[in-house]
Amino acid sequence: MLKDLWRKAPNPGGPGKPRRESGGRREDSQETRLFRSLWAKCGHCGSAVYREEVRANFYICPKCHGYFRLKAYQRLRMVADPGSFQSWDGPAEEKNPLGFPGYEQKLAENREKTGLTEAVLTGKIRILGQETAVGVCDARFLM
Ligand SMILES: [Zn+2]
Repeated sequence: MLKDLWRKAPNPGGPGKPRRESGGRREDSQETRLFRSLWAKCGHCGSAVYREEVRANFYICPKCHGYFRLKAYQRLRMVADPGSFQSWDGPAEEKNPLGFPGYEQKLAENREKTGLTEAVLTGKIRILGQETAVGVCDARFLM
């Protein structure tokens, strides 16, 4: 049963098809959602680890010491004084100077997936009261 909680649902759009276009998100049961809100699967050792313990351990697996991938705002919260982040990012731009096919669609999907406008957050924070500039990359975003 535990193994089934980590299993990915088959893509109803078929192999090689993007999940978003097919609306391929599976409906999880309430128990599965509760389990996933409390437990995470380590991508290195495959162990189920308590999310709060991972967070308290700076997103390092307590079992194998592998690193979890961080979202940009998680990384900011780890180093910045609470409430000190001031974004320098402007409004979203949609330029495709190389004419990369499908770029606009990929950009829109990444913005929806991450809630970010760009792969890198920039701004000003305080660390232990000292002002500093930061740039944090979110690896979930198209790069
Ligand atoms: Zn691990």
